[in-house]
Amino acid sequence: MLEVGGDNDRLAGLRARIDKLNSEILELLNERAAVALQVSRVKADLGISGYDPVRESAMLESLVDENRGPFSSQAVSSIFKYIFQTTLELMESSERGSLKVSRLYQPENTRFCVNGAEFGGSSFSVIAGPCSIESEEQAEAVAANLARCGVRIMRGGAFKPRTSPYSFQGLGMEGLKILSGAAHRHNLAVVSELTDVRQLEPAYPYLDIIQIGARNMYNYSLLREIGALDKPIILKRHFAASLEELLFSAEYLMQAGASRIILCERGIRTFERWVRNTLDISAVPLLKQETHLPVMVDISHAAGRRDILLPLAKASKAVGADALMVEVHDNPKCARSDCQQQLDFDDFARLMQELL
Ligand code: PEP
Ligand code: MN
Repeated sequence: MLEVGGDNDRLAGLRARIDKLNSEILELLNERAAVALQVSRVKADLGISGYDPVRESAMLESLVDENRGPFSSQAVSSIFKYIFQTTLELMESSERGSLKVSRLYQPENTRFCVNGAEFGGSSFSVIAGPCSIESEEQAEAVAANLARCGVRIMRGGAFKPRTSPYSFQGLGMEGLKILSGAAHRHNLAVVSELTDVRQLEPAYPYLDIIQIGARNMYNYSLLREIGALDKPIILKRHFAASLEELLFSAEYLMQAGASRIILCERGIRTFERWVRNTLDISAVPLLKQETHLPVMVDISHAAGRRDILLPLAKASKAVGADALMVEVHDNPKCARSDCQQQLDFDDFARLMQELL
């Protein structure tokens, strides 16, 4: 009996030592993490990347050399590899948290209105209009129809970034003037894409929102110039961009001074051929989680076809998008660009009815 009691006491003593060692290891790990975060800030100031594989393997080598057991070299290697990996993740998330676009930097939603359409609040705003502005008559017919359906912002391409240089390139400044005239006659705000810094000055008076197209998401000099203007911006996700890259592009805009930015998911390129792009629906909740900026979904360029736009619009709303972009044309089949995906007035009215 006495011996069992002695063993029990020994066990309790050893367990108490283990508990104490656990606490000491925990304290050391957190101290190490805090130092690593300092290293990460110094590196950021020096413009060096956080991850340094050469330094990591040198540390592992010297730890294995120092090791006297009972852990094997392999076990020591795995334990420290895990510590290094977890620390790197911490460094990366702290870098992300210090970005101006991050929700950690600004916990509350960025919220603003354009012509009564709210972004980042509780409403679901719809931006609609033709892929390209083609004529006075077309712009007027679409604007009148959008106003009838309760839309507050009209889109229309004037500087068209077309895949083929032989495709219709848009009417340029003339198109912008037509769009702005028609939209303003019907009390609609105007959004159109600009593709080149040389367009900014002449286009400025005709636009209420400037769109940066998917193809220009990586055009950092354009981002800097547009970010320095005092207009709301729609930033579209490139079809091969990660969400992190999209946020870095938005960071360029914010760094240049912009605050009213709408991020737009517009489909990414996958192996699927039944759609033009694959709508990345998970982008919406992920972006809402990571950033305070409003998120829009462009269902038209995602699908590239008319017949599935209504369910995609409903899905976008259900998943938490702040806004929707959809292409509408008075005669979609004869449109000079994107004729497969634009809705006619009846289908658009139905979509609006079912959605709102
Ligand atoms: C557009 O909205 O007119 C357009 C060209 O879209 P994206 O830049 O997403 O291809
Ligand atoms: Mn289009």
